[in-house]
Amino acid sequence: MHPNSLTAGIDLGGTAINYTFLDQESRFLIEELFEHPALSREGPDICLQQIADGLELAAAKAGISLDDVIVAGLDTPGPASAGGVLSAKGSTNFVHPDWAGFDIRANLEIKLGKPVTYINDGNAGALWGHFVLFGNATDKTSVSAIIGTGLGGGVVVENVVVKGRLGFGGELGHVLIPYQSIPGIEGIHPVCNCGRTGDLESLCSLTAISKTILPYFLSKHPEHELNAISDIRQAAKKVRGMAEAGDHLCREVFRVQAQALGLFFDQMINTFDPDVLIVGGGAIETGQEFRDWFVSQIRAGMPGQRAEQAGIPIAIMPNGDTAGSRGAAIQAMHYARAAR
Ligand SMILES: [Zn+2]
Repeated sequence: MHPNSLTAGIDLGGTAINYTFLDQESRFLIEELFEHPALSREGPDICLQQIADGLELAAAKAGISLDDVIVAGLDTPGPASAGGVLSAKGSTNFVHPDWAGFDIRANLEIKLGKPVTYINDGNAGALWGHFVLFGNATDKTSVSAIIGTGLGGGVVVENVVVKGRLGFGGELGHVLIPYQSIPGIEGIHPVCNCGRTGDLESLCSLTAISKTILPYFLSKHPEHELNAISDIRQAAKKVRGMAEAGDHLCREVFRVQAQALGLFFDQMINTFDPDVLIVGGGAIETGQEFRDWFVSQIRAGMPGQRAEQAGIPIAIMPNGDTAGSRGAAIQAMHYARAAR
């Protein structure tokens, strides 16, 4: 690899593309967000051109030449294969019919005229969180859970993100957990969009708050002020702020989420014996007191650990907005180093 060689990270979301560049000293050359409209609704032809145009603008912003970019890393929301073929069944982020079964990685490679690697957005976030803690160390293992509309994340084993045979590796949200052991939620019925009852996402996601946990607690406390809001999704938007301010019922909502995550992390500790557990997403982009309390509730939700594992660190994922593009650039750098 030439000493000036760089990789690009391209995070294609539903509405925006986010870019970064990574050099061989593991420095990111764009400090904050560099965004360009995604135009994914217009279909692949327009969207891929838009990605390429935005990459030129990002290079100008970073003060680099695209000739120095030897590999571009792309991440998108799923479902897609491990190699970057979007699902033929469609996706909420890629609604234009031409996206069905589209090989976005191979087509972007042709468009950019350089190798392109692919990773899904949850796995990209996990790789970024792992990198922040461990850099390029090759002997570290982490499990990341990112709490958003759903529950995403990934598993990084000895610096390699687990994609799996079909690209579904790290779909942590649909792992079943023994939620009945969480105190104070007797009779709750958490159904996930995937059809399972009692998987991690059914209790630990923004969707879970409005669909299951908030209605459960409000029905038991008819005097609570959130009962006055008829649209449960509107009520759910107030839960985090009220929880931070100390409202007991709203804290209970997050206690259930944290303890559900604790049950899941216990499974991961026994499966991977990781160096660290990482939590990310908007749910924990809060004040320090609330965040510390949330992490303490994750630990409270875990069954007792054997002495050697009891002190496993639980870290907060930094800088959520840039996680996708940075993770994609790291994946591209791994590829460039392996190909050298
Ligand atoms: Zn599920």
